[in-house]
Parts: sequence; structure tokens; C-alpha cells
Amino acid sequence: MHWNAAAVTDTGRRRPGNEDAYLLRPEVGLFAVADGMGGHAAGEVASGMAVEALEREWLETAAGPARSAEAAQRALLGGVQAANREILSRAAAESEKAGMGTTLTALALLPAEPHALIAHVGDSRAYRFLRLGDARPSKLTQLTSDHTWVQEQVQAGILTPAQARRHPYSSLLTRALGIEPEVEVDQLRIDIAPGDLFLLCSDGLTGMIEDRELLPFLERDRPLEERARQLVDEANLRGGPDNVTVLLIRVTADSG
Ligand code: CA
Repeated sequence: MHWNAAAVTDTGRRRPGNEDAYLLRPEVGLFAVADGMGGHAAGEVASGMAVEALEREWLETAAGPARSAEAAQRALLGGVQAANREILSRAAAESEKAGMGTTLTALALLPAEPHALIAHVGDSRAYRFLRLGDARPSKLTQLTSDHTWVQEQVQAGILTPAQARRHPYSSLLTRALGIEPEVEVDQLRIDIAPGDLFLLCSDGLTGMIEDRELLPFLERDRPLEERARQLVDEANLRGGPDNVTVLLIRVTADSG
């Protein structure tokens, strides 16, 4: 299994800084997006620490093409837990960083096995886009579930997805890194095939563009970098109220 990937991040139109961070390491099959929160630029510190810890743990414990899916899954989980502990202890040690936290959605691809592994906390998202040929409609599937208060209300049947999108508490997280000593991490293992296109993004994208509106951007027969840039531009055209980060990862049969 091979892949190629691209990432674009942008401050947006209204925020003073970019508190999103991402990891794009196609050579070791690791990709992630993190969306930080906290005053005095602490969100930027938290999201940066999250992707650094994840990368470090992955390289230390899961390096080598012969790793099994089980070993890789443990490494991914270990990276998220390490990131959580490190953010929490730094927030405790530096008073201006108290309360900082971050989302983290990570995707790992294994060269020897046809699986994608996902580890996820917060409201950044992973999607899979499938182009089923000219005669059938393309399909976009959200793989992760948002850890937000409004998503809980949707699951309980109290809010509709449309109400959740417009709700004043739409970005209130129920889970994030840097809040508790142990964090519950959603883990997924997905069978993959050449042609699969994965999208990782922060809520600066999905807060502005609904899933069905993402399809035409993903369908375009353009380089990944260009498609990612067009998605970011579209979020900015719609007001750009938040930082926005887009990663696109395409699985291919060969390295070409
Ligand atoms: Ca955000």
C-alpha cells in the first residue's frame, strides 16, 4: 500500500493567530490535526505539543515496515496519552497556560497491511471519500464522532443535526487533551483500498461547510494540495471565523 498527502492550514479571517497544528509525515504513514484552545496563545502551545508527542511516540515505538496493526494501534494510543499528560503537566506548571487543551485526530497507514488506524479526541474530524465511478454518486463518510455537547444532544434525539450546527454551544467540547490525567480515546481500524481519499480537518472547515458541500471539492481532478487549498479558501469566503486546517491523504496501489 502506498499513499500521498497534502496539508493546508490558515488563520482564517477573524482570529489573531492560528491555534491549529498538523502533522504530515507520509514517509512514516502518520497524519494528524489538532485544534488548540486556551488564552494567551496557549492553544497554539497545546496543539503543537500534541502533534509533537504523537510523532515522537510513533517514531520511537512503531518505526519499521514490519510492525503489526496491533503494535501500531498501541503506539498511536500511547502517543495520544503521552500528549495528554504532557499538556496537563505544562498547564499545571505555567500559570498563563492553565486550562489549555486541544483536540487530536490522528490517522496512521501501514505499508504492509491494508488498514488505516484512527485515534480521536475532540471535534476535529476524519472522513473517507469514495469515488464510485461516473455512473454512481460519490460518498463521503464521517469516520469520527464529535466529542461535543451538541453531538450528545443529537444522539439523545433532543437536537437535529441542523439545530446542532447553529447552536450557540456548538463548539463546547465534552472531551479534549489536557483536561484530565487520563483521556478516553476513540480508536478505529478501517480496511482500505487504493483510491480511498481521507480528509482530516479542524472544525474551522466543517463549521462553515456541510458534508454534502464538501463533495465537489473532493471530487475535483486536481492535485491534493490544490483541493485542500480550495477547501480552505471556501471556508474563508464564507467568513473564515475560525482557524482552518485540511489534510488530504490518498491511498494508491503504487508509489507513483
Ligand atoms: Ca477550531
